[in-house]
Amino acid sequence: MASDDSKTLAQNASPATPGTGDTAHALTRVMALHAVAYCERLFYLEEVEEIRIADERVLAGRILHETLPDDQPLTSYVLESERLGIRGKFDALKRQDGRFVVVEHKRGRSCKGADGNHDAWDSDRVQVVAYVLLLAEHLNLAPEEIGAQVRYHANHRTVDVAIDEATQVEFDRWMSRTHELRRGHQRPPPTTAANRCLSCSLAPVCLPEEERLARDPSWDTVRLFPANTDRLILHVLENGDRLSRGGERLTVWSKAGTKIADHPVEQIAQVVIHGAAQVTTQALALCMARDVQVHYLSRGGRYLGATTAGAGGVQRRIRQYEALSQPALRLGLARRLVATKVRDQVRHLLRVARQEHRRSPAIDAAIVTIRSCIARCDRANESGELMGIEGEAGAAYWSAFPDLLLPEVDVMWRPKGRSRRPPRDACNALLSFLYSLLYRDVVASILAVGLEPSLGFHHRARSQAYPLAEDVMELFRVPLVDLPVIASLNRRQWTSEHVQDLGPGGWLLTEPGRRQAISIYEERKAETWKHPVTGYSLSYARLIELEVRLLEKEYTGQPGLFAKRNLR
Ligand code: SF4
Repeated sequence: MASDDSKTLAQNASPATPGTGDTAHALTRVMALHAVAYCERLFYLEEVEEIRIADERVLAGRILHETLPDDQPLTSYVLESERLGIRGKFDALKRQDGRFVVVEHKRGRSCKGADGNHDAWDSDRVQVVAYVLLLAEHLNLAPEEIGAQVRYHANHRTVDVAIDEATQVEFDRWMSRTHELRRGHQRPPPTTAANRCLSCSLAPVCLPEEERLARDPSWDTVRLFPANTDRLILHVLENGDRLSRGGERLTVWSKAGTKIADHPVEQIAQVVIHGAAQVTTQALALCMARDVQVHYLSRGGRYLGATTAGAGGVQRRIRQYEALSQPALRLGLARRLVATKVRDQVRHLLRVARQEHRRSPAIDAAIVTIRSCIARCDRANESGELMGIEGEAGAAYWSAFPDLLLPEVDVMWRPKGRSRRPPRDACNALLSFLYSLLYRDVVASILAVGLEPSLGFHHRARSQAYPLAEDVMELFRVPLVDLPVIASLNRRQWTSEHVQDLGPGGWLLTEPGRRQAISIYEERKAETWKHPVTGYSLSYARLIELEVRLLEKEYTGQPGLFAKRNLR
């Protein structure tokens, strides 16, 4: 039975609380009371930071409310009270033994009370109590005159919730706690009842297990962060291709009018528009409404920008700004970042150096240089010194890079040093294109986490590039770009049809070249990898977001896990 036949039963006429401004915004949602009793951090994330995720469990709860059998009639009622300071929509109201009974439906199981009988969970109890208080005020009854029940569908139990003198006291206690939490600027710690996190929709954002690990290195981490992305990245590649909307679907059409791809919007994580491909206003509006970022790359693969929905995440940006105004914190992050990057570089070289027949003087010399750079990272006292170390390691790495290629690789694909704008050879065109894809993924994660991409801790604002995206992508250059580039070149996957020489304009991947590069990059992102610190496996695609979320933890006063991973 649909729940959208909701009825507003009452508009309480009590005067508004002075200074609360817009009444609708001043009232606390009853679901927020449910959240605070479940976990104070959940309340803070949802109500203060305004992070809400409709995951499978949330959707299943909604479906429950839409598919109750006929013997469980459900009509939602919306009530609000300025005196109580709350508003909410309760599931059902019935008459039993001559009195009203508020009924709340839950998908899960009841708990066991102190007497061993089935009981309601605290969070469900405070929720139904709040509805009783709202209804009592509306009907001008004493709360004790109204009954309260919670129906647990997983174990088919209906639990009565006592409404007595203590009810109002309990309600007031939870209300005052919500006010205290709203005034604070720091997230509360994760709940000590760790099993609650197993069924919390915000676990991938909250990362409670990672935080417990940061506090207690012996903590046996459970992976609550999704291991893989189940949504697609839709590339609109060719000049003249067009992305359009059909209802809740996104469709890519060729210039000739052939359908190239067609997906429901909920299957799409990002759209990437290359060069002169087109996107209709309707498709753009659908993407923004469904939180699908649309990224634009130039024909040559240069990142141009993105459209995203509203800003959000004000608290996260304030904390980021405050944290980055501490020089010691910036330096600490930058040291870890550079050390991880150059460690990745030396390991990449060592992979080849271990095969005796492929060692070269350039590789051996680069390994010695980069190792000395790693040793100096921890002692660097300022950012300029770190930049110098990073530059020295980079020069050594790129001087040895051509020696990572097998002798059979076509001379056309052998790099002549590292050149960026423009790429001066085919290999550099490939590297630059893939770094652009990586940059786009990092920007997407930064925006999804709610950090400000302009506020970096290592790179300075020198170009149009976001400094924070440039920072974070350093962690992924070797594993997500350099390694697959060398591997695909050694497999001789690249030919002259994949690249073109534009003379002074540099080298550029052709459309087949871009298509193959995207395929290689996405395959690499889908590979799973065991995080050496958290101890769980996840795809590289998820690892990018995980690192950004761990960075965000550094800004919330829970440091220690960002940039701790090492290359496999
Ligand atoms: S994941 Fe756990 S600690 Fe985090 S909000 Fe949910 S219940 Fe609270």
